[in-house]
Amino acid sequence: MEDNRLITTGFRSEDEEVERSLRPKNLTEYFGQQKVKDSLSVYMQAALKRREPLDHILLYGPPGLGKTTLAGIIASEMGHNIRVTSGPAIERPGDLASILTNLNEGDVLFIDEIHRLSHSVEEVLYPAMEDFALDIMIGKGPSARSIRLDLPKFTLIGATTRAGMLTSPLRDRFGISFRLELYKPEELAVIVHRSAQILKIPCDEQGALEIAGRSRGTPRIANRLIKRVRDYAEVKSQGKIDRDTAREALDMLEVDKLGLDHTDRTMLRTMIQKFGGGPVGLDTLAACTGEDAVTIEDVYEPYLLQLGFMMRTPRGRVVTPAAYRHLGMAVPEEADGNEAMQTRMDI
Ligand code: ADP
Repeated sequence: MEDNRLITTGFRSEDEEVERSLRPKNLTEYFGQQKVKDSLSVYMQAALKRREPLDHILLYGPPGLGKTTLAGIIASEMGHNIRVTSGPAIERPGDLASILTNLNEGDVLFIDEIHRLSHSVEEVLYPAMEDFALDIMIGKGPSARSIRLDLPKFTLIGATTRAGMLTSPLRDRFGISFRLELYKPEELAVIVHRSAQILKIPCDEQGALEIAGRSRGTPRIANRLIKRVRDYAEVKSQGKIDRDTAREALDMLEVDKLGLDHTDRTMLRTMIQKFGGGPVGLDTLAACTGEDAVTIEDVYEPYLLQLGFMMRTPRGRVVTPAAYRHLGMAVPEEADGNEAMQTRMDI
């Protein structure tokens, strides 16, 4: 179900061509995430000065926020190549060994979804990260012995949507770790503007802001929505994107003014109508909405939490009065308490 959503944060095949042309190539074109960029440029300059590879970096945060893009930028700013792979793609220790031995000094190895590496593959990674070495077993039984191969000094960039699922030996081997945050609408509007220019679609400031405001803080969604709004604009308003065109196009796609779609609204309504607004356990919510628990946690929740429409409590998920109001539903007295609780938590 998740894959059919226009506003899914996950990668869809239709994104491939657009992402290739829109992917920023250097730090200046990479908007937002200012704190990450500031620290990163210091680390990169220091490593370049010492003529050493950069420390291993862990990037975490929801999908579509620019982890892969940032890894590519780091490699090119350091003047080296990047090898891109992912946790599930590296099935056996031998697969990782062959990737590692084919790297050149200074190269970046990017492993997406690094939390999905198997235990045996992870074990190969430990000495590789720590000592740039590969331990290989030769022979079997009592005569088996291990030899150590030197590897080129490389930088591992691991990306994950769930830092909590990383084993601690792996997490501890990253010298640097950054959490990418959802983008603010003003930041996304700059990204929309840049993308519109590359795609050669006239788009004014208000049009960019309207698309940005409905993109769930996620550049991948913003880029996808521009394409849809462009189609609408070409048919209905001479190919120009302004606020009204963006609004009409996105309303037609049932992406509301905060970027919620049919599935988000169904999920909130289910929590309200079936569970009196919560608390609802994650698995129950998954069963009632037909989504899997991982998708709810990785994709829906971060944005609903950021909007303040949902809270996570030790007893489960709770809908806040702001969500009732957004859905045009009356706020019951008990839910008013949730707002007070949320305000206390914010403080
Ligand atoms: P992730 O690896 O976190 O899932 P990606 O790096 O694949 O996300 O980013 C998805 C798309 O969003 C990219 O193709 C790129 O065009 C766009 N994008 C991501 N971050 C930025 C940014 N900071 N500035 C401009 N565009 C961005």
